[in-house]
Amino acid sequence: MKALVELEANQAAITKDGCEIEVLLNTGLNTTPDVFKEQNFSGIGLYRSELPFMLNSAFPTEQEQVSAYQHLLEEYKDLPVTMRTLDIGGDKQLSYFPITEENPFLGWRGIRLTLDHPEIFLVQIRAMLRANINTQNLRIMLPMVGSVGEVEESKRLIVQAWQEICWEQHVTEDQFPLPDIGVMIEVPSAIFIIDQLAPLVDFLSIGTNDLTQYLLAVDRNNSRVADLFDSYHPAVLQAMRLILEQSKKNNIEVSICGELAGDPIGLLMLLGLGYRKLSMNAFNINKVKYLLNKVTIPELEACTQIALKGHDGNFIKQTFINYLDEKG
Ligand code: PEP
Ligand code: MG
Repeated sequence: MKALVELEANQAAITKDGCEIEVLLNTGLNTTPDVFKEQNFSGIGLYRSELPFMLNSAFPTEQEQVSAYQHLLEEYKDLPVTMRTLDIGGDKQLSYFPITEENPFLGWRGIRLTLDHPEIFLVQIRAMLRANINTQNLRIMLPMVGSVGEVEESKRLIVQAWQEICWEQHVTEDQFPLPDIGVMIEVPSAIFIIDQLAPLVDFLSIGTNDLTQYLLAVDRNNSRVADLFDSYHPAVLQAMRLILEQSKKNNIEVSICGELAGDPIGLLMLLGLGYRKLSMNAFNINKVKYLLNKVTIPELEACTQIALKGHDGNFIKQTFINYLDEKG
């Protein structure tokens, strides 16, 4: 594969045949460095809200959270900012809230944990909503959703917090509409209930890191099985195809916020499947735009049709590498 050179900031996110791709940013800690400002992206697709919690020595207060979220929402005030609610558990531990489990990745993680502790969830949601009063560019995303009940309960708490804030701030619900609410598709069960989730939420976003881990039953951080963690496994490709099909059928927005979207081969595979909204780390954005400018959608669709018949990840990956080599 040819080296990715000649990267230009502010290059348009558009394929050679003129298909515009929505490129968004994943962030979490340092949310406003200058390097971000040199990039051209259409919003924050994933703010990992747990990262600042992990650096603290105690749960940040509601006011501390308001300040942090306000900073982010104001910095990107003309763009949508998708904040994920606290996704601790698994590999993400808080020193002041230790969790000991035999199978942490199958245990008390993400929305499961915060629904068991509504006081933690409510403080965070209240802080997000308060921070959003002036800018109104917040979107709220729920991690590790595996059932309809989790979404219903989360929405009940979000609406409760929203009504409280409207009352406290003397704003009507019309003046301060409830932000869009979405769920991550990263637990395999969620794929099969998109028909039931879609009417409850405004958008879906695929976490390919966890989705791959759970589909393949391979710990994403265990070096012993690292070679089995294969984002090009045919099962992952089929799952991605199914999610898009189900989302289109339900007329709901779907994007990708896992690492696959920023990976050159993953990007081509996702475009060939039909995905058009991708969120990634800052350092991948220019590389991705450079690549977009070289490829066409019909060619990628043709590659994807071949890849979908593949029996192993190497074949699938190689299909796109061959395509890039042909492009020179
Ligand atoms: C993912 O699982 O793909 C994802 C985006 O979330 P995280 O990597 O933070 O678990
Ligand atoms: Mg995840």
